[in-house]
Amino acid sequence: MEAVDPRSLSPTHPRRIIVVGGGYAGLTFVTTLAHRMKASDDIEIVLVDPRPYQQALSELDLVAAGTPRPQFAELWYADVLRGLPIKVVYDRLECVRPDDGLIEIGPRGGPVVSLTYWRLVLATGAIPFVPPVPGLRESAITMWSVDDAMKLQRALEEQFRYGVTLCDPRERACAIAVTVVGGGATGVEIAGTIADRMPPMIKRAGHDPKELTLTLIEGRPDILYDLPEVQRIRARSRLQKMGVSILLGRKLEKVESGVAYLESGVEVPSPVLVWCGGAHADPDAVQWGLAADNSGRLVCDENLKAQGQAAIYVVGDVAAFRDPSSGRILPMLAQFAIREAAHAADACLHEARGLPLAPFVPNMHGEFVSIGPKWGVGWMFGVNVSGWFAIVMKRLTYVMYWVQVGSFRLARKRTAQMLRMRH
Ligand SMILES: Cc1cc2nc3c(=O)[nH]c(=O)nc-3n(C[C@H](O)[C@H](O)[C@H](O)COP(=O)(O)OP(=O)(O)OC[C@H]3O[C@@H](n4cnc5c(N)ncnc54)[C@H](O)[C@@H]3O)c2cc1C
Repeated sequence: MEAVDPRSLSPTHPRRIIVVGGGYAGLTFVTTLAHRMKASDDIEIVLVDPRPYQQALSELDLVAAGTPRPQFAELWYADVLRGLPIKVVYDRLECVRPDDGLIEIGPRGGPVVSLTYWRLVLATGAIPFVPPVPGLRESAITMWSVDDAMKLQRALEEQFRYGVTLCDPRERACAIAVTVVGGGATGVEIAGTIADRMPPMIKRAGHDPKELTLTLIEGRPDILYDLPEVQRIRARSRLQKMGVSILLGRKLEKVESGVAYLESGVEVPSPVLVWCGGAHADPDAVQWGLAADNSGRLVCDENLKAQGQAAIYVVGDVAAFRDPSSGRILPMLAQFAIREAAHAADACLHEARGLPLAPFVPNMHGEFVSIGPKWGVGWMFGVNVSGWFAIVMKRLTYVMYWVQVGSFRLARKRTAQMLRMRH
């Protein structure tokens, strides 16, 4: 890998593939292509991302728990891409000009550099969606970056330190209170992490761990809607045993002075409020003149090409790929981002070699949600799994990803780090 100044790149390389976004999709694309291409393909790979590392979003719960370890969810390009023929430009995409076959990169509103492409791969991901509920934006911590996870960690620590100085147990219970809004996988994982982490802290301070007020609010009638019902029941019962109050079918009305007011009139003390209520595609994407769906995701065809654009692929969370078997747009999941990207990398190679393209066929072999660090629920190959086995499987998916984009050496190093983790 070589970090380059974009101005040093040849103005017209005939086979330049620019990949914008080095998350799950972008990193999978560049590594798959770099491993499979031959010198005779004469392909130049350029990865554009302002950060020098991937933020592994699905590992954020490991950062939000325990001692500060932001590095756990960071995969540095210098480690992962070592020895591969990939040029990395640390910058952000400002504009796509499909008619001219070029992109402009540079700081928002600042001077830009133009780069031509033979193929462009857009993998710019998504950002959290925060609805216009009064007081929510100002008080909520979202969960979409290592910084978010660190912010939550600090907020929990500060609130705990303040709470344990209060003498009245009722005041303490209002101060050491955390509300997680959103009962999807992210909200459940964060609630489970906090339920595991905070009671021992409170006990060490000489108070009853049951004084923790931990509430999970979900607007729909149940949590983890994507899982089979039996797994949802197991997940609820595990969370409740861990001290989480689950409020279903409730909507937030406003957040004010550390209290969440629900439409049903319920008031929940929430000095720390985590918003896990959903995401929408990179909002810049709709300005690039490409076809987008109502949620802002870029519409792609069966080959993962942006609608009507022969030279542009879209993969990962920013892409709206309709599964032909279910007729539904694929959910924003790392496992789909990875599969789409690997398929698109092969498709580019086929194009370079004049071979026909095969349509992308999505499939899902399993899904796992952690509830605390040692227990989880999910399914694999149609079979429900729960307990420590689900956690082992979840962590194994990380290991497989590290091997796929990096190497056994990288996977060994990160597995050792994961096993050494203490709470
Ligand atoms: C807390 C959490 C837990 C999750 N857990 C799971 C899980 O257990 N299993 C699962 O399958 N999925 C999970 N997901 C979803 C999964 O993380 C996403 O589907 C996945 O990250 C999508 O990958 P991506 O490459 O499309 O986007 P991202 O991983 O978000 O990467 C996008 C990249 O684009 C870059 N970028 C953005 N804009 C620009 C620009 N203008 N110019 C240049 N670069 C740009 C960003 O810097 C970033 O590096 C979780 C998500 C969250 C938030």
